Amino acid sequence: MKTLMLDVEKCIGCRNCQLACKDEHVGNDWLPIASSQSEGQFWMWIDQSERGKQPKVHIDWLAVTCQQCEDAPCMAACQSNAIYRRPDGIILIDPKKCSGDQDCIAACPYGVIYFNPESNIAQKCTLCAHLLDRGWKEPRCVTACPTEALTFVDEEQVQALDGRKEYLKPEENTRPRMVYLGLPKPFLAGEVFSPTEDLCLEGVIVRATPVGGGESLTVQTNNYGDFSVKGLTSAAYNVSFEKEGYYPKQISSLKIGEALNIGEVKLYKKA
Ligand code: SF4
Ligand code: SF4
Repeated sequence: MKTLMLDVEKCIGCRNCQLACKDEHVGNDWLPIASSQSEGQFWMWIDQSERGKQPKVHIDWLAVTCQQCEDAPCMAACQSNAIYRRPDGIILIDPKKCSGDQDCIAACPYGVIYFNPESNIAQKCTLCAHLLDRGWKEPRCVTACPTEALTFVDEEQVQALDGRKEYLKPEENTRPRMVYLGLPKPFLAGEVFSPTEDLCLEGVIVRATPVGGGESLTVQTNNYGDFSVKGLTSAAYNVSFEKEGYYPKQISSLKIGEALNIGEVKLYKKA
């Protein structure tokens, strides 16, 4: 059984995947798998979000579509038995059986089922099952992705990811099959300079250690003295700054939130 996987760091927000989905499904009936998608729907949607404050802002793009849940609440909610799982694991809504009562739309915690007012049915991503059945190796969205951020992976590839694999809304207990790598996490940013030399400091080692212990994350400042420590998972960090020839500095118990810009950090040159 294959599934979609998004590597968030590789996504550039070009929306080619979104457009490919529209191209494949708007105005095209692929019965019995799906009927034509309504123009206002996005079975594949790139959700853009900004975190942090200028000038230290991270923009994330998240491909959101049907997560192909193992415990799919949409299936349980459908009283017409219109939602079914194929032997290859793909969950589909039968356009002929759907009564249009929209119970599945209310039940899906990911908001990825859409109501088509023209055909009076609920619709969602089909993983281009009509193409897979004709020998395609992947859905149109994957083929259209220029950075290989979106891929179509098998069970073995998923297993090999070990602790790196993540899922959207795990608290919903739907056991989604779509896999994400590098989901957006809190970050700490700032810039380091030497006031006595009036110089941005490159190559400063910035080390963030969780208050109370845990694995440290380390980055170096760039040639503008800027740094960004990504992937923070604890609420507060002790942060140290070190560069040969300069007095080291430590800032204790920084509360991160979703993003924290600590601004300028001064390091003084040793005499
Ligand atoms: S993401 Fe929503 S539509 Fe897709 S299987 Fe899960 S509950 Fe159903
Ligand atoms: S096509 Fe690929 S890079 Fe472009 S928005 Fe979609 S997932 Fe991101």
